[in-house]
Amino acid sequence: MKKGESTMTEIKFERAAALKAKPQDESKLGFGSIFTDYMFVMEYTEGRGWHDPVIKPYGPLPLDPSAMCLHYGQEVFEGMKAYRAADGRILLFRPEENFKRLNTSCERLCIPKVDEAFCLKALEQLVEIERDWVPHIPDASLYIRPFIIATEGKLGVHASNSYYYVVVLSPSGPYYAAGLDPVKIYVEKSYVRAVRGGMGFAKTGGNYAASLKAQEEASEQKYAQVLWLDGVERRYIEEVGAMNIFFVIGDEVVTPALQGSILPGITRKSALELMASWGLTVSERRLAIDEVAEAYDKGLLKECFGTGTAAVVSPVGELKWGDKVMEIGGGQIGPVSQRLYDTLTGIQWGKVEGPAGWSVEVCK
Ligand SMILES: *Cc1c(COP(=O)(O)O)cnc(C)c1O
Repeated sequence: MKKGESTMTEIKFERAAALKAKPQDESKLGFGSIFTDYMFVMEYTEGRGWHDPVIKPYGPLPLDPSAMCLHYGQEVFEGMKAYRAADGRILLFRPEENFKRLNTSCERLCIPKVDEAFCLKALEQLVEIERDWVPHIPDASLYIRPFIIATEGKLGVHASNSYYYVVVLSPSGPYYAAGLDPVKIYVEKSYVRAVRGGMGFAKTGGNYAASLKAQEEASEQKYAQVLWLDGVERRYIEEVGAMNIFFVIGDEVVTPALQGSILPGITRKSALELMASWGLTVSERRLAIDEVAEAYDKGLLKECFGTGTAAVVSPVGELKWGDKVMEIGGGQIGPVSQRLYDTLTGIQWGKVEGPAGWSVEVCK
């Protein structure tokens, strides 16, 4: 063992005095509003590293009112799911990618890195304990939210010397209650989400705080989400809400290249790898909104869809850019979007064999 490293082989377990009642109707779960019996917590203290990992009853965390996460937003998070296969196995989808990305986010926000293999092991233990909470109905899953917050109680601006790493679990209903309905998206012309050099590539609360105002204005106009343009020229396409974005233009599938301001989605990466393996022409490149509008005018804009853990694949049926309204796919999901949705969900729920290592079994 290296100096300053702590032993974290033992995860303590504190049993709950009583367990909560499981949800009666899994079709009414919605997203992120109920939580399971247990959570995982470990602490970081300068000089000691990460220590005292414990699985304990879900509940409030002791927090100093001056904790730095509350004042300066030093926090990072992840989002992933556990899926119940038809044969009862509980599966995770590429979880190593989430812990790798968590550390990338940590690095940007000056948060000490976690041991990725240990965090995966701890998550598997937590999910196994909570296996009965993984929903049974089709397309529902157990949403997993790992996060790290700065806990030092001090108002001076600097990186905190103490942290909590916490994982909470929330059973969630099917994302699409009524089939894969295409969504309406509003191209944001004044607000921006992130700029190169900022923290757009990190999964951190501040990026979401920055997005709320635009999201509210889009909702008032009955649009589901906003499509962000780059922060410098307001011209190049970035991403949508909590999704990356793809366009099928002629025979090319295009998604904006990762240049520091876009969140590197695991669904995005998986979609790119799958489409390339199918022999499609896929490009990660700069894509201007006027190029999309021009393709639309020429009848070349065949499909547009978002990708992310929550929705998997979300077809876009309408894009509004200023006065220009682009209707895509005639209210239907396109063939590329549909094939991606079927393949990704097939792998996630253990119906389809995916590339090696994509599906990780937690327990039987
Ligand atoms: C999490 C997230 C995504 C999607 O990432 P996945 O790994 O595919 O779930 C896209 N954009 C933003 C801003 C996100 O926070």
